[in-house]
Amino acid sequence: MRNCDLHCHSLCSDGLLSASAVVERAAKNGVELLSLTDHDDLAGLAEARATADALNLAFVNGVEISTEWQGMQIHVVGLAVNDTQPTLIEGLHSVRSGRIDRARRMSADLERVGIFGAFEGAMRLTANPNLISRSHFGRYLVDSGVRKDVRSVFESFLVPGKPGYVSHRWATVGDALTWIDAAGGVAVMAHPGRYKLSSVELRRLLSEFKDLGGQAIEVQSGSHTAEQVDVFRRLAREFGFLASRGSDFHGPEESHVDLGRLPPLPEGLTPVWDVLGV
Ligand code: AMP
Ligand code: MN
Ligand code: MN
Ligand code: MN
Repeated sequence: MRNCDLHCHSLCSDGLLSASAVVERAAKNGVELLSLTDHDDLAGLAEARATADALNLAFVNGVEISTEWQGMQIHVVGLAVNDTQPTLIEGLHSVRSGRIDRARRMSADLERVGIFGAFEGAMRLTANPNLISRSHFGRYLVDSGVRKDVRSVFESFLVPGKPGYVSHRWATVGDALTWIDAAGGVAVMAHPGRYKLSSVELRRLLSEFKDLGGQAIEVQSGSHTAEQVDVFRRLAREFGFLASRGSDFHGPEESHVDLGRLPPLPEGLTPVWDVLGV
């Protein structure tokens, strides 16, 4: 099976490598089809595509849109989107526009537990300040000695009920699907195993996603355990979703799954790349 990696991040959002370095690393790791899917921004795609073309690596545009569903943060990946389409561009602009204010509120909330200067500290770690994210706060809390790694930060901070988490109005799932559709893309539910949902809620999410035009789910994901891969293999078949595969790579120091270094899709699924025309 083709080594396709359809989910990863660059400095344009919360990744640690430039878009071109991500593509070079993917090529070196044997990836045969790559999509760069930065959060809420298309800014890295031109550079990524130019590098991919130079290396003869097949590439599709991508984006990972932050949405809210029943108070939870749900990520929807758009693949093969036209990155000049105005509806998508304006929609992503609206999602990004709240991030700086949210970051200030996160920082104020961290002051409750005696952590000061987090906004400025996290901001210094961004390459794209409009995309300041919990990852940047996580890295700042590691750099300032609060926790030993980002993973442990997310056990005690930045998640619902813990210091540094504030609620935020993202796009709706319906908005994301409208924008992806307008841009001619294919909508994929990102890492469905990561959401803290009961199996009833998960089925409701998947069925709403399907009704709104969602076509695929990530089955093989850097965020999934082997058990979850099997759960989503079955759900993909049950709901008639195409299956995607993506490492969700953010950086060599941070991600335990490197670009292209995850198992193949399980048997019996239709890969989403069959409909991407690449
Ligand atoms: P945001 O879009 O600002 O809410 O930030 C979300 C990002 O934080 C995700 O895309 C991940 O990169 C990172 N993140 C969320 N949860 C965790 C976790 N448990 N461990 C490490 N990184 C996480
Ligand atoms: Mn991220
Ligand atoms: Mn995500
Ligand atoms: Mn991601």
